[in-house]
Amino acid sequence: MSDDRTKRASRRSRTDTAIERQKRIAKALGMSHVLDQPHRLAKHHALDCGNPQCLVCHSEKVFGNPTLQERKFIESHKMDNFGSCNPDQ
Ligand SMILES: [Zn+2]
Repeated sequence: MSDDRTKRASRRSRTDTAIERQKRIAKALGMSHVLDQPHRLAKHHALDCGNPQCLVCHSEKVFGNPTLQERKFIESHKMDNFGSCNPDQ
């Protein structure tokens, strides 16, 4: 029982942290309409327009290119883009 409470508290804390981080971005850019309902930022980013096919917000997803996070992972593990490890590089 206490384990469930711990997990729930951890999840809520992570959600609150994510909301605060997105609120900071929205506040810096003067997006007052987002700051009126801050819990909306729990599910999407402040700068996301909401269109899943948008080429500005989701170009990696639409074109199938690796994201910045994936590129960093590939670079740090010296892998080619197909996922196999190449230790010679
Ligand atoms: Zn967009």
